[in-house]
Amino acid sequence: EIYILRLGHRPKRDRRVTTHVILVARAFGAKGVYISDIIDPVLSQTLSKVVKRWGGKYFELIMGVKPLEIIYKLKSEGFCIVHLTMYGLHIDSIIDNIRHQCKKILVVIGAEKVERIYYEISDYNIAIGNQPHSEVAALAIFLDRLWKGAELGLCFSDAQYYIIPSEKNKVVKKVE
Ligand code: SAM
Repeated sequence: EIYILRLGHRPKRDRRVTTHVILVARAFGAKGVYISDIIDPVLSQTLSKVVKRWGGKYFELIMGVKPLEIIYKLKSEGFCIVHLTMYGLHIDSIIDNIRHQCKKILVVIGAEKVERIYYEISDYNIAIGNQPHSEVAALAIFLDRLWKGAELGLCFSDAQYYIIPSEKNKVVKKVE
């Protein structure tokens, strides 16, 4: 069971990236995304459109949460807190541990600078390589390494449409 906590969303600047965080979380099998402090209705509208067509109505988008409160709450429910940061331990050195130790995970990702406290309260500070890149890439690779690629086979039973993979065409079928 995986949730994501997105810190520091700024509605104008970060909307596209945060939308991609949400879409990656849904497509790759997380249960939901928390957005700290801010309520941005555009994010839920975009998610609703995707869910209506492609399924995933149980995926949760919970906005306007106080991030430290959520972290303490989920910790008390047995979640491991995994903060993705380029300063952390290299994912290859720790992912097997995380897979064995953590049944439930809250993945914390930033936007701009992430405050020191998050490094301290996290159980793991993990780097997807020690170069600066993107929270979308970091989240996708973390989930992929955790689940060893199985997430790419995910199907949503409540989808209205599904895709038949095709070499050259877009083949979309309606679920009967
Ligand atoms: N400079 C910021 C800082 O010092 O925290 C990071 C900005 S970065 C654009 C936004 C987020 O992407 C980070 O908070 C982190 O979650 C994620 N990120 C970027 N590069 C990463 C890496 N190499 N490994 C893990 N996460 C990374």
